[in-house]
Amino acid sequence: MGREIVIASRNPGKIAEIHQILAGLGFSFRSLSDLPEAPCVEETGASYAENARLKAVAVAAFFGRRAIADDSGLEVDALGGRPGIRSARYGGPRATDEENNALLLRELEGVPEPRRTARYRAAVVLAAPDGRILAEAEGTCEGEIVRSPRGSAGFGYDPLFLVPGTGRTMAELGLEVKNRISHRAQALGRLREFLDRRFQEFY
Ligand code: IMP
Repeated sequence: MGREIVIASRNPGKIAEIHQILAGLGFSFRSLSDLPEAPCVEETGASYAENARLKAVAVAAFFGRRAIADDSGLEVDALGGRPGIRSARYGGPRATDEENNALLLRELEGVPEPRRTARYRAAVVLAAPDGRILAEAEGTCEGEIVRSPRGSAGFGYDPLFLVPGTGRTMAELGLEVKNRISHRAQALGRLREFLDRRFQEFY
């Protein structure tokens, strides 16, 4: 089956982070950006883990390769945990990051600092072509939503996501720091240990 793993995502921000966090293990990666024939998987699950499983299993079966999927989102306490698993489509089915961020700021207008707490959550899943789930892990990252976008690194809600204790948004901190502290870094860190331990068995 080779040492290739397919990253079941078309999101360039996610793909770059997954590449960086899983580098150096001897695996090579291709993502759905390089594989336009890949199926579009509907995210019909009720949780991040369910959606990540749906994506990983469908993509692994389609290509006959192991696949890694991430499903993630932002949960804002003052919004009762929204946008949550709908984070990508918060501002509409084809909303851009900027549109999602603008809607978030509108919904939080008038909400004072102590109540602007939020967290990122991610679930990652490694699936085999026969549909088995080989590994899965989750991660969270606590933060607060600032009042206007700051910084240009990362993607999605990063320009609005203040990392407590740093005075900076995730987009200001940059990818090197983000990939040490983020929800995705934590989840993929666990997956990385699994891949490292089971490397001999796989290949
Ligand atoms: P998914 O592709 O369905 O998992 O949607 C994930 C969405 O959650 C992204 O489009 C972003 O809106 C948001 N999100 C997840 N992880 C991050 C992150 O690390 N930074 C900023 N936004 C994120």
